[in-house]
Amino acid sequence: MKLPKIRELIEAITALIKGPYTSKFPTVAHEPHPNFRGKPKFDDKKCVGCLACEEVCPPGAIAHEDITDGGEWPKRKMIHYSDTCIFCGQCQAACIAEHEGIKQSNEWELSFFDRKKEGQEAIEKELQLCEICASPIACKDHLKWISEKLGELTYSSPTLYLSRLKNLGIIDENIISAMKDNGRSDRVKILCARCRRQTTL
Ligand code: SF4
Ligand code: SF4
Repeated sequence: MKLPKIRELIEAITALIKGPYTSKFPTVAHEPHPNFRGKPKFDDKKCVGCLACEEVCPPGAIAHEDITDGGEWPKRKMIHYSDTCIFCGQCQAACIAEHEGIKQSNEWELSFFDRKKEGQEAIEKELQLCEICASPIACKDHLKWISEKLGELTYSSPTLYLSRLKNLGIIDENIISAMKDNGRSDRVKILCARCRRQTTL
């Protein structure tokens, strides 16, 4: 009869005392490693709706929808689809909001019955519309983010400085909309690139 080696004997005794190495899932909930890269989640307070994450997402698991008709305010819906996400972390790496607008969580249990209901998560950000043609320019938080980065250079762009003044509560919508003359005063409005070009010309 062959005798067990000392190492195997020690391992057998340790296993008898400590129990099996395999986890007891599903009886006991699984605790992922702290560095585990699971389902990415948007943070609606930190995300500025810039779409950088959508641009870099390899499988197209992030999409957006601009809703400008109906509802209280025009909004951009940022959507994440868990069923196509490959958990690569590119969205978090590219996020301009200090990598906190979208962050990978340790959520790993992603099986679901209803793909449309459970397979996607969305946040909403308020959009700034052009004051002439009403097309979306950017999210209000994104314009604020740009003007904070530019500092005093913000004042070279009426769209940026008017958005900033609105944010600070110094001007309101009525003052701007009262100045409708299809002329010089149109230049002092929050405009999309096309309307800015047309009014300038
Ligand atoms: S983790 Fe990768 S695949 Fe998933 S949403 Fe982010 S960029 Fe797209
Ligand atoms: S702020 Fe970050 S999470 Fe939000 S849209 Fe931009 S890149 Fe995506």
